[in-house]
Amino acid sequence: MKNNLNLVENFYQNSLFTFDSYESFCRIDTIYESPKDVRNVIKIFSENNKPIKFAFEPKNGLVRISLKTGAVEESDILSSLLSINANKVEGYQKFFEKNGFFFPIFSDKFVEIEAEPLLAVISRMRATVELMSQISEIQRKNYEKILTVTLALLLSSKNSIAIGSNKYESCEHNTLYNELDTASQINDNESSLRMDNQYNFIITDSIFGEYKVSLDEYRSYKADYDVLNPFWRRVFHSYFHHQHANKNERLIIEVLFHSFKDIGRFEFVTFNSINFMEEPRWENYIDRFKKAVLDVARIVVAEEINSNITGVYPEYDSTIMEPRWRVESLMSALYFSIFYMKPNLELTRLCENPKCGRYFKVSRTSLKKKYCCTECANRANQNRYRARKKEVTI
Ligand SMILES: [Zn+2]
Repeated sequence: MKNNLNLVENFYQNSLFTFDSYESFCRIDTIYESPKDVRNVIKIFSENNKPIKFAFEPKNGLVRISLKTGAVEESDILSSLLSINANKVEGYQKFFEKNGFFFPIFSDKFVEIEAEPLLAVISRMRATVELMSQISEIQRKNYEKILTVTLALLLSSKNSIAIGSNKYESCEHNTLYNELDTASQINDNESSLRMDNQYNFIITDSIFGEYKVSLDEYRSYKADYDVLNPFWRRVFHSYFHHQHANKNERLIIEVLFHSFKDIGRFEFVTFNSINFMEEPRWENYIDRFKKAVLDVARIVVAEEINSNITGVYPEYDSTIMEPRWRVESLMSALYFSIFYMKPNLELTRLCENPKCGRYFKVSRTSLKKKYCCTECANRANQNRYRARKKEVTI
């Protein structure tokens, strides 16, 4: 026990922040409102006789320590959370029992949380980590994936989780929405646009230099409500009429405009795919465009992280006469651990065994590692061997 406590003490000295919480009692109810409305509700209360502590240490990530035994119970909590099957709410019950809920809850009564927005919030976190890793991959950047996740984070609606009178709200991408508001103040005056002698408007575009759109095409956007819904009308309006928006705002508008116009019109985006309404023209996704998408991905990641660490404050500890961070919730602690991630030193990757689904850390010095463990690597090898054998027999 003494050794353990020493270990833990050293751990605190090496950690960048700590956070205190409790284990929880958690159950999942399925509510059958009607045949078409079946939903899951998480019922949870805090077990205040089971205190736990989280500490963040760069090498081990966010680590959970039992205050009863002083033992380090689990390291890299973030990867554990992201590895849980995203569609099965049952998987999260164990996580919350061991780690407590994302936000402070009552100890004397159940809090009821709708599963759907909660799962959406976790998906956002997973997407943010995936995007960070994708941006930092050196040779194996998947630009289609980067565009998909960037658009999904940028365009998905805000999720909120209410606990008593408190409300958590997921990130809203203000760089985009502020620009759309600013641009909506500008008149829709086509005579203010530059035109060449072939009746093309010339748009100043930081990705393509001067980009041309014919007068006919321009007018079809304005006339046809089937082509552009109100959201895309605002994006197109900003693209044509606010060409001198500031740099980041302009870049986001340009990436949205060219994704929709040049790659393909789409109805909605999930974290896994863009739901195109026409055959996507990926041949238009050229290098200059990819570079711009990468820049927008960086802005989106920063906005997601910044919006989720508002519950972290610097504080001066009078007992030890040292500065420290006060972290208000497990959610802030998780995002604060993402904040401290150093993609130039290590990445959080999804295991390439399709049946696994686990996330694991890879250091930049061993980027070849594709599987979370040797079991997964062996299984994938066997599958490849079997597939080859089958090919040969056929
Ligand atoms: Zn694996």
